[in-house]
Amino acid sequence: MEDKINARLIFIGVLSMILTAAFTLFVFHNAFVKQVTRDVKTSAQTIAAAYPHLEAEGELSAFAVEGLRVTLVSQAGQVLFESGADAEGMENHLSRPEIAAAIASGQGEDRRTSGTLGYETYYYAQKLADGNILRVAMNVKTMYAIYDKAIPAVLLIGLCIVLLSVLMSVFLTKKLVNPIVDMARNIDEIEAHIPYKELAPFAYAIKEQQLKKKEVDRMRQEFTANVSHELKTPLTSISGYAEMIETGLAKEADVKDFARKIHNEAGRLIELIGDIIKLSELEEPGGETELTPVDLREIVESTVDSLYFQAERRGIALTYRGDSGMVLGDKKQLAELVYNLCDNAIRYNRPQGRVEVTVETVPDAVVLTVKDTGIGISKEYQSRIFERFYRVDKSRSKETGGTGLGLAIVKHIALRHHGEISLKSTEGRGTSIAIRFPSYAKEDAE
Ligand code: ADP
Repeated sequence: MEDKINARLIFIGVLSMILTAAFTLFVFHNAFVKQVTRDVKTSAQTIAAAYPHLEAEGELSAFAVEGLRVTLVSQAGQVLFESGADAEGMENHLSRPEIAAAIASGQGEDRRTSGTLGYETYYYAQKLADGNILRVAMNVKTMYAIYDKAIPAVLLIGLCIVLLSVLMSVFLTKKLVNPIVDMARNIDEIEAHIPYKELAPFAYAIKEQQLKKKEVDRMRQEFTANVSHELKTPLTSISGYAEMIETGLAKEADVKDFARKIHNEAGRLIELIGDIIKLSELEEPGGETELTPVDLREIVESTVDSLYFQAERRGIALTYRGDSGMVLGDKKQLAELVYNLCDNAIRYNRPQGRVEVTVETVPDAVVLTVKDTGIGISKEYQSRIFERFYRVDKSRSKETGGTGLGLAIVKHIALRHHGEISLKSTEGRGTSIAIRFPSYAKEDAE
């Protein structure tokens, strides 16, 4: 992190320095060039004004001050006077653009670069009254030459920026990272250790996860405690009856009855363990159910048939009706769901009661409804009956062979099938549980 911040700071620092230097240089150089162009021209005009009063060409040297070079060229291009060198032996100047322009139009200017020496020369030439051409020149360092000189300073500033960046990054990382380390140390009260607002979402996300984990832990613990408790009760009575038979405490006539009780309790244990296994399979993360198109009515039909005698034994009329309703589902799980709902509707019913199962096709959905004329569930318990091991009337549930897991299994199966559960119940009058499954149309597969 520190390295990253460091690299970025250095990059930003050096880049801004280079850009600033380049920009200032460009602006100043431009202004300077304009100035020089003007200076050369004014000097030429001043000298031209003085020229008629000169007695000899040599006097022109008096004007060659402060870097100015003065040249006098005849109309034929011959150099008559040159302040920087000996005029004699200088080559013909007719080909120089500023001279040619001055001969043709009265004045001319040019700018030539001497690459090796690192300067540019600005020329201004003017035609004089006697036909000669007066030229004034000035050397100016090129931008690159100026830049060359600036390089040590630029390097020094760059070095300062690098140093400053390193210091800043150490400081910034400490300021950024230390609070995070502090948060990690106090992860249990993370919301009380938010050092700056940018870290708040992070802290809240962690807090939320902690709460979720705590809730899952709590539920798991509760489930384990419940399971142990549920297992212990039948095992205690099995152990008790068996002991009485073993020690001969049970009379000969009771033995059969005790054996029946042991059998019953063992049967309940098997049922309970079966339900726990089903539930844990349904809860397995990633244990996706493979869904295939199935007709819900067929499943209802066979499940209701299998419960027929159980209903009759309790004097309950169990009926089903409905259309064929195709859904995407797992046959075994859906049968389990229908079974659990019907089983409850029979067990929490009254003598001469009724249970009606319907499968109804509505737009986009197939609705399964199990309706009974039983004891009903009072409002205060309605939201809880889908919890594991929650029973409104514990003794009735046990008497009728309930494990307290039936509706929890129903809820999980519905969830896996994207079904929505709705419950309507009036105490003393009956209950109706409906599950709405998304319908499966043949086109869905194509
Ligand atoms: P159980 O094995 O005890 O029936 P369930 O999970 O199937 O467990 O149901 C939880 C509780 O919900 C039951 O103990 C019962 O009190 C209540 N319940 C479920 N279905 C009905 C119903 N059709 N009518 C009245 N009460 C019901």
